[in-house]
Amino acid sequence: MTFLLTCKDFLRELNEFLDPSSTDPAARQELEKHVNECPNCWVVVDTTKKTLKVFKGMQASEVPGRVKDRLMAALERKMAARKPGGCGTGETHASE
Ligand SMILES: [Zn+2]
Repeated sequence: MTFLLTCKDFLRELNEFLDPSSTDPAARQELEKHVNECPNCWVVVDTTKKTLKVFKGMQASEVPGRVKDRLMAALERKMAARKPGGCGTGETHASE
């Protein structure tokens, strides 16, 4: 029986695909086959890989202080724009 991956299957396995240590070789082969045959998923993988590289690059090299400050300021402004109590501090779920 031939096991054909659909795009949905592939996207569900995308994390595994991008983390080879957690994928078994047979499954990985199927995923690779799908990427090679499916332009849509190829673009997804390509974009995700590039994004991951950017993030890793940012961690490896130092983020200039000013850029970081600006990022943090932008984040804080975004958070402040939200209604208070929305996120972050502690459990919001009622105990059972
Ligand atoms: Zn696909």
